[in-house]
Amino acid sequence: MQALQRLQIPCLTDNYCVLLHAPETGETVAIDAPDAAVVKSALASRGWRLTHILTTHHHNDHTAGNLELKGFFGCQIWGPSAEADRIPGLDIGVDESSQLNIAGHAVRVIETPGHTLGHISYWLPDDQIAFTGDTLFSLGCGRMFEGDAKTMWASLSKLSFLPDATAIYCGHEYTLANGRFALSIEPENAALAKRMDEVATLRAAGQPTLPTTLGVEKATNPFLRTGSTAVRARLGLEGASDWQVFARLRELKNKG
Ligand code: ZN
Ligand code: FE
Repeated sequence: MQALQRLQIPCLTDNYCVLLHAPETGETVAIDAPDAAVVKSALASRGWRLTHILTTHHHNDHTAGNLELKGFFGCQIWGPSAEADRIPGLDIGVDESSQLNIAGHAVRVIETPGHTLGHISYWLPDDQIAFTGDTLFSLGCGRMFEGDAKTMWASLSKLSFLPDATAIYCGHEYTLANGRFALSIEPENAALAKRMDEVATLRAAGQPTLPTTLGVEKATNPFLRTGSTAVRARLGLEGASDWQVFARLRELKNKG
């Protein structure tokens, strides 16, 4: 099994679409499709033909390109079965019980509700890649539009059990702003300071800060660090449960 080729495409203001291409079979997958024209031209530049769209959740900035791309390529659209009626062009509703693969590469669905109630993440264990949509961002996490803090924290906690080396692709380029908040919570975190230097350099050069890795996020992302003594002390929540620490962080971030 050959490695999948990857192409990360900036779309709209700060969204990403990621293309995965299997050279042996020609299959090409888009994870989310924010903008049909931009995705089409990226495909054309590589000579790839879109066979699948894997949707993370129903928001328009992740699905706006679905129907046009499906009309043009006849590609198959997968997405959360819990949001089946809200995903344009959906062919196959998926959940954690789905047995999926692309060119023999296993694709696992992880249900990560909170940002929306049906939000899913996709994990390719053979390739050590995960697509966390608007659930986990680098140095941050999505807003809870449909779920509560307990639900969102449980979703992030699930993702935190993936292997540390997993490359994490996210739905948005929010890292710099997220990092400023993270530094306000953990000004002494050396790994965070180092990551922020990297992020500032990348953004100044117009480069994406993604993918990150789960290992880096566990060391730097306050929303995955609810068990940290420093984070708890900062918030005065030494004895609280993890989801309560998470809820407080999310509240503070919303205000900032
Ligand atoms: Zn969203
Ligand atoms: Fe989004």
